[in-house]
Amino acid sequence: MLELIAPTRCAGCDLPGAVLCERCRAATKSIDARWACPRCGAPFGYLTCTECWNRELTFEAAIALGVLERPLSRCITLYKDAGERRMAAELGGLLAQALRPWDGWGQCVVAIPASKAAITRRGFDHADALAAVLARDLGIPHVCALSHARARDQRGLTRTERRANVASALVAVPGVLLGGQVLLVDDVFTTGATLDAAAGVLMAAGALEVRAAVLARAW
Ligand SMILES: [Zn+2]
Ligand SMILES: [Zn+2]
Repeated sequence: MLELIAPTRCAGCDLPGAVLCERCRAATKSIDARWACPRCGAPFGYLTCTECWNRELTFEAAIALGVLERPLSRCITLYKDAGERRMAAELGGLLAQALRPWDGWGQCVVAIPASKAAITRRGFDHADALAAVLARDLGIPHVCALSHARARDQRGLTRTERRANVASALVAVPGVLLGGQVLLVDDVFTTGATLDAAAGVLMAAGALEVRAAVLARAW
């Protein structure tokens, strides 16, 4: 019945029939981890990129499914802001495949939690739902290890303000003990500041190594 009123359309190109059509599914994966910066996942070759030469990152490495452009950018927007929650399984499954170069690495999956305001607005925590899919596909536990202390919603803040806001906002969930290798999940990697702050919190909570998995790499 629902299909009659609102037929399923591809999140990437509006083609009716599937949440993500075959063409967009293929186009969504636009970064090959073997040809990306091993630290930040930027798709400019297999050597550490020039940006990473001059920065200390707390996480060891990052893999992104693709570049933040269509159709992936549109999929993420529909997922986060238009309530297309079926994208969690679609994009999470593709991200799990993109993580193959790290096969066997990782003992748990932890998401960067959305702010309370964002969860209220969207009705769900988008990165947490992705983390659940990844954990299931990778066969490792999904641990809710991070929370917001006093986060303000990021919209309307400048990049510098966002960085300060995030750094002050993420805290470890009391009582959660982390060990070993933690796979940190978020939707978009822009400056890496959020992932870096989160990795710092996880290391302080007992993680030995943190790597990041994101849907898209933006600049
Ligand atoms: Zn499509
Ligand atoms: Zn880099």
